[in-house]
Amino acid sequence: MTNSIKKVCVIGAGTMGSGIAAQVANAGDQVLLLDMPSKDGSRNAVTERSLSRIEKSDPPLLMRPKNIERIEIGNIEDDLAKIADCDWIVEAIVERLEIKRSLYRSLLPHLKEGAMVSSNTSTIPISLLMEDMPDQLRKRFCITHFFNPVRYMRLLELVEGEESEPEVMRVLADYNDRMLGKGVVECADTPGFLGNRVGVFAMQAAIHEAGELGINIEDADAIFGRPMGIPKTGAFGLYDLIGVDLMADVVRSLRSILPQGDPFHEVGAENVLINSQIEKGFTGNKGKGGFYAEIDGEQMALDLGTGEWRPRSKQLPEISIKGEKQGVTALLSGSDKLSNFAWKVLARILTYSASLIPEVTTTPQDIDDAMKLGYNWVKGPFELIDEIGSEVIVSRLEAEKFHVPEFLQHARGSKFYKVVGGALKVRHWGGEFHPIKLPKGVVRFHLTRQTLRPIMENASASLFHLDGGERLVEFHSKANALDGDSMKIVMAAAKDPGPGIIVHNDGQHFSAGVNLEKFLEMIEAKNWSGIDSFLHEFQLAVEALLYCNAPVIGAPSGLAIGGGYEVLAHCDKVVAHSNSVMGLVETLVGVVPGGGGVKETYLRWFKRTGDWEKAALNTFNQIGYGQTGTSPDLSAKLAYFEPERDSQVMNRDRLVEAAKTALHEMAKTYKPRQKPEFTLAGGAAYDGMSAILQKGRDKGWFFPHDVTVASQIAWIVTGGSGSAKQDVTETDMYRFEREAFIRLAKTPETLARIKGMLSGSGVRRN
Ligand code: NAD
Repeated sequence: MTNSIKKVCVIGAGTMGSGIAAQVANAGDQVLLLDMPSKDGSRNAVTERSLSRIEKSDPPLLMRPKNIERIEIGNIEDDLAKIADCDWIVEAIVERLEIKRSLYRSLLPHLKEGAMVSSNTSTIPISLLMEDMPDQLRKRFCITHFFNPVRYMRLLELVEGEESEPEVMRVLADYNDRMLGKGVVECADTPGFLGNRVGVFAMQAAIHEAGELGINIEDADAIFGRPMGIPKTGAFGLYDLIGVDLMADVVRSLRSILPQGDPFHEVGAENVLINSQIEKGFTGNKGKGGFYAEIDGEQMALDLGTGEWRPRSKQLPEISIKGEKQGVTALLSGSDKLSNFAWKVLARILTYSASLIPEVTTTPQDIDDAMKLGYNWVKGPFELIDEIGSEVIVSRLEAEKFHVPEFLQHARGSKFYKVVGGALKVRHWGGEFHPIKLPKGVVRFHLTRQTLRPIMENASASLFHLDGGERLVEFHSKANALDGDSMKIVMAAAKDPGPGIIVHNDGQHFSAGVNLEKFLEMIEAKNWSGIDSFLHEFQLAVEALLYCNAPVIGAPSGLAIGGGYEVLAHCDKVVAHSNSVMGLVETLVGVVPGGGGVKETYLRWFKRTGDWEKAALNTFNQIGYGQTGTSPDLSAKLAYFEPERDSQVMNRDRLVEAAKTALHEMAKTYKPRQKPEFTLAGGAAYDGMSAILQKGRDKGWFFPHDVTVASQIAWIVTGGSGSAKQDVTETDMYRFEREAFIRLAKTPETLARIKGMLSGSGVRRN
């Protein structure tokens, strides 16, 4: 048995196969991608098309374009013998049992000793896939069920066959965790496994109840969305995103495999309206729309009652705004139609989840993990029950004559998760509590934090001491927007850094920048000194990180842009998740980075080029365009990530472990940094940039305000027209950023851009 995977073969180069191949290539391993041969033209036409789809994918499946070179293509007639080099063969072909079985038979003569084979099937039980499988293969076969898009969806469901060797399961779990970045959940061989069993049920519950109660689709998505900790696409929007036709197929196939009496049948019946949409070609976002569509330039929504289009409402219902602020319980307090909708949907989802224990799994953690990793829910169903209170739920279910599953009834009045003796434990079937299970080295900080007491805490951030004394700064405001409170915690950590500081959180995004609402308030009140003090405090806090006497490590995942990136820019090292997006995007809302972002970018480009003029031009260009890198590899091209110093990990759950290791290594020889010196690039460089802006404006590439904003970046790094090249201090650079920021904040165009951004209608280009 090989226990290391170096080369992978993916068979089936459709949506999933392409995604799996791209992610293996991202991990640095070689891939052989096979599909059917083409009858005309190139024999490999199908896989050639797949490569081109991978290259053009958006969001990108590749972490850098060059990774495509690791994918060799071929077809199953001419190239099957090449699988002899592969350690793992993943089948991702059409969902047809006979075709899959016949493929497995054809693989056998070519497999190398110890190679593993798995299927990506969504619905076919492993027992059926293996029915006539030769003995040699049975031991090395299992199901590896990925979610689309493979690079971004974290869940991998692993299903063992009766004869699968434990070593096969161990090797595949480990490879998918460390190399492909997956949260692996081991599932029983039951229909839909866990993610889709609960996830598709949840969507159907929302769609079904919206129809029953006469709720319009925008309101339904606004409730079955953010307030429940569910992505804002809700149910109807997610149908459009996945494809209305594909979803209809998934629902049909779940219906055919789930036993009579499964509550899925109550919400998953054939839907006349959906079928008619598909017939009319409204198959979702990939086509001309689904439940939502743009018709004759107008945003429309489908009326569930009449089946007709009507203008889409952008107005969020009161209850969802309240729910977003106060959490899911706020949805349940009213007695109106929308509150009733929220309750009915939750009642269905939560009781369905509880009814799957013990048949499908014995622990709620598996279901919660599947929903968090596979459907991007902030909390899983059992965590939601804990938040609402099991007593509240069970008594309302009983009062309304709903069936209460045994597992939920037994837990009545108590929680599913609790901290016992410093460890987070979860209630299993039978009532006993067991420690939550995670692979060694995996830290999901939203779980870990429950076992720790913060040293300091406010509404936007917390400071923790970890077991090795390391300080951990966690941002946790809405969307992790940074404000004065966030920076107070950063400052407190820098003043007493212990062996070192890790700045990390496991929200979807590390931080998408400074809280713009606060800026808007100050701009509208013409409170320029307030803006100056806020920026100054921000700068002092990040400067304190830069010069504190212990190493500081930023460990981001998701977006780390604007102010979020400026915090990272002041760390000694960044240990980034390989999907993290870094960059300075302030110009899009009409301001310049005011938290040291221009200064740090300028310095980094000087270190790379040894030339202040080149450094100034690069800084001007990339901040002017608001460029971001959609992976650390791409951020490296913008000097937002320094490959010789920083590192990246494929699994975001391993960031804390990697940051701790790096921190202790650095602490051995750590010396606080020396203050750098800066030279402004001078008037000639400024004039060169002005000429670029003028040309862009003449050609219609830039809006007038783009030119105004970019001129301020040019001013910061050059000193402005007519000025000489001159040496300045870091403190000067911070001050220039504040001055430029305030000059722009005073313009009506910047105000309009910020308002546009906050209203959700998009940044006004002016
Ligand atoms: P797809 O239709 O996009 O691609 C299937 C590919 O398999 C096609 O390129 C087809 O030419 C190829 N193919 C068919 N028969 C073949 C054979 N005998 N040998 C080689 N290639 C063959 O399908 P998909 O959405 O990528 O799904 C593939 C598998 O993954 C299915 O089992 C599906 O249930 C499962 N799955 C799909 C999703 C999803 O969101 N699409 C998610 C998880 C799992």
